[in-house]
Amino acid sequence: MSVVVAITNQKGGVGKTTTSVNLSSALAEKGKSILLIDMDPQANAASGLGLEPEPGSSLYPVMVGEKAIEQQITATSVEGLSLIPAEVDLAGCEVEIAREANPLAKLRTIIEPIKSQGRFDYILLDCPPSVGILMTSSLAAADGLLIPVQCEFYALEGITKILDLVNRLKQQGVNPDLYIVGVLMTMYDARTRLSQQVVQELQEHLPDKVFKTIIPRSIRLSEAPSFGQSILSYDPQGIGATSYRQLSEEFLQRLQ
Ligand code: ATP
Ligand code: MG
Repeated sequence: MSVVVAITNQKGGVGKTTTSVNLSSALAEKGKSILLIDMDPQANAASGLGLEPEPGSSLYPVMVGEKAIEQQITATSVEGLSLIPAEVDLAGCEVEIAREANPLAKLRTIIEPIKSQGRFDYILLDCPPSVGILMTSSLAAADGLLIPVQCEFYALEGITKILDLVNRLKQQGVNPDLYIVGVLMTMYDARTRLSQQVVQELQEHLPDKVFKTIIPRSIRLSEAPSFGQSILSYDPQGIGATSYRQLSEEFLQRLQ
């Protein structure tokens, strides 16, 4: 059985895709078998890994029953890391899913065969920003959530919103066992008091949820995708790679 973890936050630009690509790569480096599924029609995960997927290579044809999910799994240049890319068309899934009798169960049903095969240790979902059907479906299909939060003024407010949504999904019986693997502070700038205050505030409010690992703001991390590489190959000894390796250890500890 694979463990499905959605990397999610309704807020845009907080580091979901950066974390999806680099945590996946760090877990693969540790010998884990990983499938990353890009759920965001912006389709950034593939280019971040140096891939240019053909049209029709996303989950969309699976959603409409034209292909089996296994056919959409693509190898990446990172050993142990496979990808199901997104494409702009994925947005059309929202309509398809909405037509289902039980819309929120659709994605879970689609993922089920690869999940139960156990070919992958972890299946990570890179979620889109905003609370749409693709995002809520991901929450419904996940076992656990990893919530990246940017170290900025409204961080706590944003996380309260997503925790409310999680509680609603649990109470409504959509996904009663959904748990929070952790809240990840991203783009931390040690030179600003704001960054320090935000981390402190979140640690006080969610003491056992916030990861000890904090991802610093690093130009290298923002550059790596334009070279089609994870930070582990772009700058293997830098602070970004070190942080995501450390995160992968904490991630594994928490899921054991
Ligand atoms: P979206 O909601 O649009 O999908 P996202 O939450 O996936 O965004 P990313 O795309 O990972 O966020 O990051 C947003 C921007 O911030 C990108 O340009 C990325 O390169 C940059 N970024 C992410 N993490 C860091 C970091 N630790 N240091 C510096 N830049 C970062
Ligand atoms: Mg993204």
